[in-house]
Amino acid sequence: MTASSGRQPDATSRRRFLAAAGAAAAVPAAAALIGGPLAGNARAAAAGDLPDYAPIPPGALGPALNADGYFAGNIHGNLYWVTDSVYQAMFLSTRNGVVLVDAPPTIGHNLLRAIADVTRVNGRPAKVTHLVYSHSHADHIGASALLGADVVRIGHSECRRLLLREADPNRPAPTVTFDDHYVLETGGERLLLDYHGPNHTPDNIFIYAPDHQTLMVVDVIFPGWVPFKNLAVSQDIPSWIRAQDVAMGYPWQTLVGGHLGRLGRRADGNLQIAYVADLLAGARATIASLDPTPFFARYGNNSWAIFKAYLDAAAAQVAAPVTAKYLGRLAAADVFTADNAYVMFESLRVDYGTLGPFGNHP
Ligand SMILES: [Zn+2]
Repeated sequence: MTASSGRQPDATSRRRFLAAAGAAAAVPAAAALIGGPLAGNARAAAAGDLPDYAPIPPGALGPALNADGYFAGNIHGNLYWVTDSVYQAMFLSTRNGVVLVDAPPTIGHNLLRAIADVTRVNGRPAKVTHLVYSHSHADHIGASALLGADVVRIGHSECRRLLLREADPNRPAPTVTFDDHYVLETGGERLLLDYHGPNHTPDNIFIYAPDHQTLMVVDVIFPGWVPFKNLAVSQDIPSWIRAQDVAMGYPWQTLVGGHLGRLGRRADGNLQIAYVADLLAGARATIASLDPTPFFARYGNNSWAIFKAYLDAAAAQVAAPVTAKYLGRLAAADVFTADNAYVMFESLRVDYGTLGPFGNHP
C-alpha cells in the first residue's frame, strides 16, 4: 500500500461510518458481505493491525438506507434504482409488470421490497416479467433465482454460454439472448441492450433507457470512487479502458454503475477517464525509467523474485503521484490505486507490448 494519508477520520465521518455500519448490520446483506468462510478471519484481525485510509469525500456517498438496509429511488419517469450502498440494480415499472436489470445477492429480497414500494404507489403490477443480466458475475446476478422460473431472462449470448458452463442454480442462464443489439419493449417502456465486445468480462453489455437518458453499465465506471481493485478485476484491460469512452458516447444524464451508493453524472465518467489515463501515462513513464539492474543483482537466478520486486516497485512508482492527485477527488484513491497501477503496468507489457527491460534482446 502506498500513500495512505495516515489521517484519522474526523468525528463526523466516524459517526457517518458507524451509522452506515449499523444500518448494514441490520440486514442480511451485511451477512452476505462479511459472512462466509472469511468471517472468522475478519474477526480474528485485531483492529490495530488494519491500515488507516483517508476519509471518504461526502460527495461520493449516496442517500441514507432505510431500516431494511436499502434505498429505492426514482431516476426519471417509470425508471428506478435500488442500492444497499455497495451494489445497485435498476428497474422499469411498466403497465405489464417490472423489468429488472441485475439481481445482486447482497440486495437480495430487498429488490422485491423496493419494487413493492414503487408499485404500491403507482398501482402497476409488481410482478417481475423480465430480468436483464448486465453480465454473468454472481455478485451482480446471484439473486436471479429469487425471481422464479417464469421470468424472462435476457443476456448476451456469451453470458448464456458462461452460465450454462457454471450451472449455478442461483444464476439460471438467459433464455433470450442476442449478439449485437436487442430492443426490449413492454408495457409502454423500452430498453436498448448493446454489446460492444469484451471489456470487464466477455459478456458485459450496455443497457440504455433512451426515454430516461439513463445508461446502466456495470463494473466500468465507478461514480465518485476509484475503480475496484485491479481495474475492476477486468479480463480485457485495453477494452475495459475503451469501454469508458463507449459509455460516454451514449447521451445519458444518469449512469447506473452497479456499485456503491449513488448514481453517476457525466463529470464522474470524465474524472475516471482522467484517472485511468494518468495510470497509463505513469506506467509508460515508469517502464522507460525504472532501472531493473538492482533487481537482477539482488536476486540472481530467481527469475520470479526479479519480476516480483521490479513489478512491485513499478506499481508503487506509478501509483504515488496518481494517489496524491486524486485523493479527496475520488474516494479510496489510497485504497486501490496501487493495485490498479500494478494491473495497468502489467497490461502495458502484455497487452500494449511495451516490454521495457524485459523486451527484445539487443
Ligand atoms: Zn463483474
